[in-house]
Amino acid sequence: MGKKTSIAWMRDGDVQGGSLNTIIGCSPASPGCANCYAIGECWRKQHNTRVGKDFEGTVKGLPDGNRAWTGRVNFNRERLNSVLEDRSRRCWFANSLSDLFHKNLEEEVILEHFSVFARAYWQEFRCLTKRADRLLRLSPKIKWSANVQMGVSVEDIERMFRIVALGKTGAVHKFVSFEPWLSPWPFTAERSVRRAFPMQIDGIEYRALRDLLKEAGVECCIVGGESGRDKHSPRHFHLDDAAYIMEETKAAGAHPCLKQFGTRWAIATNTYGMRDSDGKPVKSARKGGVKTSWPAHLQTYSQEWPFLKLLDYKAVNG
Ligand code: SF4
Repeated sequence: MGKKTSIAWMRDGDVQGGSLNTIIGCSPASPGCANCYAIGECWRKQHNTRVGKDFEGTVKGLPDGNRAWTGRVNFNRERLNSVLEDRSRRCWFANSLSDLFHKNLEEEVILEHFSVFARAYWQEFRCLTKRADRLLRLSPKIKWSANVQMGVSVEDIERMFRIVALGKTGAVHKFVSFEPWLSPWPFTAERSVRRAFPMQIDGIEYRALRDLLKEAGVECCIVGGESGRDKHSPRHFHLDDAAYIMEETKAAGAHPCLKQFGTRWAIATNTYGMRDSDGKPVKSARKGGVKTSWPAHLQTYSQEWPFLKLLDYKAVNG
């Protein structure tokens, strides 16, 4: 079974959110992967005698002391099927330590995931990929169901094409994760995402981001700056970019979710080491996630992402 998650947008009232890691292992797809946190987690667990088998061979040590993905992807069918035994209302982030559309994962395994998701109609599954091309290719074979939210990661202007691909799939619910959003550095108005529009993708002109989101049928957008254990590697996140993406999400009729401004912003604004009234460090402050410390015009956006309204297993089956 999966485990509870600390992902902020996975919490909502009584519904329990969690990570469902049925596949483990990955490899970089684009610049957003440069500080992939999952490598460190898989490396540690690979050496853990209790859970090590699931992680076996996924990460290797490099001569310079760093770690890297090997490209091996392990599948745990038992864990996938375990969701069918769980009759409670849950929301799963399906695979936080891999990418469900990774090229080394067999097509049948990907399709099997969506078949199981469809059978577990009382639970919600959120899947996120950077492999929008494979998602689009497999879409006609996927059993899309109303309890799945399918999303693409878009970390910079060059990756906007993934939204177009998402829009062409048969997914019932669609979202975009602009996280970590990588603003250019040094940042100037000319290099902002606002000025990247109008933009042409596949020969079609989009006057503003809202056109892209509307055409793709996107229901929710999450924006966040990069965070990281070490204070120096997280990259830049400019609040003008965040404001534009949130404004456009709203204008497209989708739900805006502004998660955090990232570690660099937290350091620059001296909020990184924030403490609560008991003197304890505020965990989210290190990621720039304390809303009250944000500029007023951005505090109006939600940090939460509401769950889908699904049928309850007990109500249907007695
Ligand atoms: S796709 Fe996700 S899990 Fe895979 S390398 Fe990139 S950030 Fe890491």
